[in-house]
Amino acid sequence: MSLDAFRLDGKTALITGGNRGIGLAIARLFGEAGAQCMLSARSETPQSRELTNRDGYAFTEGDVTDPAVPERLVQATLDRFGRLDILVNNAGVADGGDFHDFDDKRLARIMDTNLIAPFRVARAAIPPMLAQGGGAIVNIGSISGYVANKPQLQVAYNSSKAAIHQMTTVMAFEYAGRGIRVNALAPGYIRTRMAEGGMADDAMSKVWRDSTPMGRFGEPEEMATCALFLASDAASFVTGATLVADGGYITH
Ligand code: NDP
Repeated sequence: MSLDAFRLDGKTALITGGNRGIGLAIARLFGEAGAQCMLSARSETPQSRELTNRDGYAFTEGDVTDPAVPERLVQATLDRFGRLDILVNNAGVADGGDFHDFDDKRLARIMDTNLIAPFRVARAAIPPMLAQGGGAIVNIGSISGYVANKPQLQVAYNSSKAAIHQMTTVMAFEYAGRGIRVNALAPGYIRTRMAEGGMADDAMSKVWRDSTPMGRFGEPEEMATCALFLASDAASFVTGATLVADGGYITH
């Protein structure tokens, strides 16, 4: 094996939540690595449009919580690029507050986006991957799948992320003999819109930083390199893993 194992030439990736943040950084790096990329979100951003105007990129709009959308995203990828080798289940939302105040509507939004939708997108992606003889799925989980965050309360989010880690483990077991690797990436606090409110709050930001042994937040690009490893042939013997990339947050 050579360094070329980290490249994605000839491969096609579907990246949900690809219009900003971690998904956009993944799309950028995967393209540099040679992949064709289908990005998806509810709408484009100027940053994603800059990418999707380039050859080898495309965008499909869709709300992943709509039950019809996951299959449509997979089909759009096949229609545009003729194959699907890599799925990055990245779209996600966060919400917090006391457990006893977390009503059904908010619970459904978290679970539908962070758990049910990735399940459905992966379910739609598996048949074309099997027909092609293999593929790689990267589910974006979180350190919140392992620990209680502090100081904010967010039990629904943490439950959804723990479930995604477990979905990853069991899918990996199920498809290991059929050429499809399934792994997860568990980021710590990363500078994106999802975390910007907390990072702008001096008190919360201090707790987050003090809880991170490296003493800083991560950048989306640092998640993209991890996702590239998991998606590429460099990780050819890696399946069922959750790669924690958190500056040491869950070490203590
Ligand atoms: P952002 O808020 O920047 O990005 C979230 C992405 O998900 C956007 O592209 C958004 O697009 C998309 N999305 C949300 N809801 C839907 C929906 N219903 N349908 C389609 N797309 C949707 O946050 P991040 O980049 O940080 O988040 C990416 C992933 O990383 C998430 O799964 C998150 O849980 C995870 N993560 C993030 C951490 C952090 O500190 N930032 C820490 C740990 C995990 P749009 O809203 O335009 O549709």
